Amino acid sequence: MKQLFTYFKPYLLLLSAAIVLLFIQAYTNLALPDYMSDIVNTGIQQGGITNAVPQVIRKETMEKLLAFTTTDDARFILQNYTLVKHGTDKAAEYQSLYPLLAKEDLFVLDEIINSDSGMTDRLNSILMRPWLINAAIENPQFAAEGMPDLSRLPKGTELSTYIKTLPETEKNQILSMINSKLTRMDPKMAEKAAASLVRLEYSAIGMDTGSIQIKYMLHIGLLMLLYTLIGAAAAIITGFLSAKIAAGFARDIRYGIFEKIESFNAQEFDTFSTASLITRSTNDIMQIQMITVMLVSMAFYAPIIGIGGIIRAIGKSSSMWWIIALAVAVLLILVTTVFKIAVPKFKLLQRLMDKLNLVSRESLSGMLVIRAFTMQDHEEKRFDGVNKDLTKTMLFVNRVMVIMMPVMLLIMNGLSILIIWVGAKQVAASTMQVGDMMAFMQYAMQIVFAFLMLSMMFIMIPRAAVSAGRVAEILKTEPIIKDPTVPLPFRDPFDGTVVFKNVSFRYAGAKEDALHNINFTAKKGQTTAFIGPTGSGKSTLVNLIPRFYDATEGRVLVGGEDVRNVTQHDLREKIGYIPQKSVLFSGTVEDNLRYGDKNADSGTLQSALSVSQAEEFIKTLPKGIKSDISQGGTNISGGQKQRISIARALVKKAPIYIFDDSFSALDFKTDAELRKALTKNSKDNTIMVVAQRLSTIKNADQIIVLDKGEIAGVGTHKELMESSKVYREIATSQLSQEELA
Ligand code: ADP
Ligand code: MG
Repeated sequence: MKQLFTYFKPYLLLLSAAIVLLFIQAYTNLALPDYMSDIVNTGIQQGGITNAVPQVIRKETMEKLLAFTTTDDARFILQNYTLVKHGTDKAAEYQSLYPLLAKEDLFVLDEIINSDSGMTDRLNSILMRPWLINAAIENPQFAAEGMPDLSRLPKGTELSTYIKTLPETEKNQILSMINSKLTRMDPKMAEKAAASLVRLEYSAIGMDTGSIQIKYMLHIGLLMLLYTLIGAAAAIITGFLSAKIAAGFARDIRYGIFEKIESFNAQEFDTFSTASLITRSTNDIMQIQMITVMLVSMAFYAPIIGIGGIIRAIGKSSSMWWIIALAVAVLLILVTTVFKIAVPKFKLLQRLMDKLNLVSRESLSGMLVIRAFTMQDHEEKRFDGVNKDLTKTMLFVNRVMVIMMPVMLLIMNGLSILIIWVGAKQVAASTMQVGDMMAFMQYAMQIVFAFLMLSMMFIMIPRAAVSAGRVAEILKTEPIIKDPTVPLPFRDPFDGTVVFKNVSFRYAGAKEDALHNINFTAKKGQTTAFIGPTGSGKSTLVNLIPRFYDATEGRVLVGGEDVRNVTQHDLREKIGYIPQKSVLFSGTVEDNLRYGDKNADSGTLQSALSVSQAEEFIKTLPKGIKSDISQGGTNISGGQKQRISIARALVKKAPIYIFDDSFSALDFKTDAELRKALTKNSKDNTIMVVAQRLSTIKNADQIIVLDKGEIAGVGTHKELMESSKVYREIATSQLSQEELA
């Protein structure tokens, strides 16, 4: 996983930007239910009046209220109000707003107070109770629960008038008694009641209470709109960022994998199958990309919303916390159950995908062979087997997921019903406001939703973790064949002699050596040929020269240097390698030739084609050297492919040529002509030829006979005919009596 993190590093900045945006998004989403409850509570129920502080109040009402405050508080209130007497110039100014000013004196709240929320709060807390007490006296229907029992008052006295007559200490005593009774009332409910009284006062003054309400609604509505827009913008940008991060991250990993695979040698390819390498660099990376999008947009958002939602919900109604706890507990049980059932299947899914790929690849590339052996039925069954396995597991996982959705919805709806059930009772008992209940419900939904997102992630993460593990496995594979820390240069001038000294080689995991104690020298300017039965180790031997594998024991020397002491680049620069199975790339013939040397001039290309006997057939192609070769070279014959592949190695003009059974696809005549041209053109080259056909190598300067990984004879054709039994057997089986001579 560490490897993957290094690939994520460049995206940390974008990620932090996304997180900031997520905070903004979460904040706006959490603020909306709050505003909605304001609309219901204050806007609808209190007519848009937010608190107990009136903008304007009749002198007479003010005096009544002041009676229920301490002298200090009364002074504070009066400091903030200005008495406007009717009939004055000032009154004319306010006349249109406050029609009653035509007949009565009014107290008007000083402008500055409105902008100072601390002052407003203080006035609110002072004025709230006097409003309620006063209303309870004047109009007993306002006497809400928790109001003081006023029946002990002397009959026929108005409390406000009575209190005013009392000395200060006694007045305070009564006030604190009334206050202590009022504190039992929920402050929000008290504020709500007081606000309705303020509204009545406004009506009495002749103000347009309807427009006050509309103004409030508009104000909150616009705020909500603004928050929604900000939230939406944040959501869009985070969506964009998460897609960008995930796609970039996936691209970088894909590139990393490709780069890594390029550094792989035969040995690493033996450990990872090609099918698995393909699934890993496509499907597995896709999984990582998907989870990255999810993680970026949910991993941070869900906890913020969850925790923020809980805080705000409890702020709305602390008594209903247990409902949220209950919902979360039920969800927890559901999600763990799903988790237990689905996660092991996810791991299985990825393995089955590998298997399907393997079978498809094999049957697709071997389709002709399958047909030739009429094994279609067998292959179909094999494919059907893995296909069905995959489908079954997919279906199972999806069914579990699908069942989860309605259950989730059921829980969500049950939650709403429970909140309304409990909440409605509290609203009826005046211990909760309707808007708060509605907001609580929305918060509960947000919490559940956050929880769902988190659980979704926990379900997806194991699947992605499997993929990440598979990708990391490739990234952390250190190629066994590495360049030396201090590479030596080849001696100048380069001498293409190849020497094997006591070389033994064993494939990783094999029980026996593929090569055992091999000693020989392939001289510059000479052709060294290798012959032997299939499986005798010919290909293995020549693969040690370009360091596709490293010798297990002994040393391979090229140009006087141990191949392990020079860089792989320098070494392979000196070698023209023509593999047993020729591989061409899509592009033109010329493109393929230029793999040998991208700066080669057309003379070099032509002579390479001529030596490799490809000239003739290239001429017959419609566009000659510019003709297209399809992927894998399927539009030309095996022998033609082989010839182009030989020409490609010749273009490289390497001092050492290795032909691993490259002549087998050629007919006898071409084989002979090619060899003739080759010897003529490469007087100073070291040529190593692996062949099945004795005629191919009969004239070689040195023939090495391999048998079961060991050298069974060295010499020229003549010498070997005398000395080597294995060679003689091969010779008599292939050549006629005249040729043997
Ligand atoms: P030749 O080219 O002479 O036909 P090879 O050099 O390809 O023979 O193979 C020599 C032996 O090594 C064979 O027994 C073969 O089974 C084994 N062998 C070849 N390639 C591998 C490999 N990648 N992993 C394990 N064993 C291998
Ligand atoms: Mg071979």
